[in-house]
Amino acid sequence: MTRARLAVHAHFYQPSRLDPWTGRVPVEPSAAPFHDWNERVNAECYKPNADRGTLPRLSFDLGPTLASWLADADPVTHQRFVADGASAMAQAYHHTILPLASAADRRTEIAWGIRDFELRFGRRPAGLWLPETAVDTATLRELARQGIGYTILAPWQAALGGADSRRPYQVDLGGDHEIVVVFFDSGLSASASFEPEATADADRFARERIATRLLGGPDPIDEPLAVIATDGELYGHHQQFRDLFLQRLVAPDPGTADRGFDIVTLESVVATPAHGPHQPIRIADRTSWSCHHGVARWGGECADADDGRWKAPLRAAFERLAGAIDVVVETALGAALTRDDLQSARDGYVDVVAGAKPAEAFAAERWPAADAATRIHLLELLEAERWRLAMFASDGWFWDDPIRPETRQVMRAAARAARIVDGVAGTRLERRLVEDLAVFSSPSRGLDGAAIYALALDDVGQPAPA
Ligand SMILES: [Zn+2]
Repeated sequence: MTRARLAVHAHFYQPSRLDPWTGRVPVEPSAAPFHDWNERVNAECYKPNADRGTLPRLSFDLGPTLASWLADADPVTHQRFVADGASAMAQAYHHTILPLASAADRRTEIAWGIRDFELRFGRRPAGLWLPETAVDTATLRELARQGIGYTILAPWQAALGGADSRRPYQVDLGGDHEIVVVFFDSGLSASASFEPEATADADRFARERIATRLLGGPDPIDEPLAVIATDGELYGHHQQFRDLFLQRLVAPDPGTADRGFDIVTLESVVATPAHGPHQPIRIADRTSWSCHHGVARWGGECADADDGRWKAPLRAAFERLAGAIDVVVETALGAALTRDDLQSARDGYVDVVAGAKPAEAFAAERWPAADAATRIHLLELLEAERWRLAMFASDGWFWDDPIRPETRQVMRAAARAARIVDGVAGTRLERRLVEDLAVFSSPSRGLDGAAIYALALDDVGQPAPA
């Protein structure tokens, strides 16, 4: 008996819209009649998909920054995601392109993503979604080192001739570490995402697209698997009524004739290999699902932007800022005789960010010998580290032009981090940041990065840099 299997993975994520100074989302007139785009996407996608009971039949990841907003804004929907998340995956915390991050930042982003998941879902995650599926072998090794068993990649991210996406593979990472990689079906996923006429009728999609893919073809295998992986917002937000499509696809009416395949979750696929041990494979380093030029989209020039000359200098400016902040924090930890180090303190600080532990309790546990003033000082510096991590969210580099809201948002995160450190340590990090931002310009407006930075601050009523 060889049954074909379909797994649908939804990557639920929105760029953060939080004002780093208030922790609230400002009004976005373009989202009217809703207060902001998070609320609008929730009404069109998160809430209806949760209400329809579709989530238990899916694999999904719910980005931690989005999940945190949802828990405040719509606790009922958030609770449905948690209760129906038996096959949920974690996500690297700030949606950072990990192959472009330092080793320390990779470790923290993964650790925060795992810890946030644990606090939210009440268990350790088995899998972790890599933002933009951006990957290299070092990132996979760090995932495995932190106990992650599998991730999802695009089939073109396999090295040497690609992968047969109908079966999972295993990547040997050396040192007794390995990780399972599930490749999504590029044709089915692209149809679901970009061919609205193909998803107008779920039964027809199942019959004409999925069944033919799984059961037809010249090279049949036992228990073939198809994984459809897309942005979760596709289902109801990017495309109207596709929440209904999704429901019918993964939870057909009881009377529906056998479609020739079963709905499975990735968790079950990975946990119970159909054909014995997964076959070995190697992956192509520095690749992703949304840039066909590797990971150039988030730090250089590629065909995804007409004029991407602003991207490398923006990243360089942030990297200089990040390095300077780290030196200040590391020095302060040493001076406070806490026997703590940046990596360890920062990895643990996610409990404060996630609201699981009051900052004072965290400081008292962590630095028992330090006096109250020192503890406050160190907490402020860790808050700077938080925003210094947030400024690397991939959204800032995704689009064509740094004048867009997503880039302004990462600039605000950078400003928040720089201003905290300048305030408590007497440094001039913001001044140098502004100088560094002035070396690139918006392709559409001609405004330089320093001017865009001033606009980004003005958006939330923050004073211009001195
Ligand atoms: Zn590209």
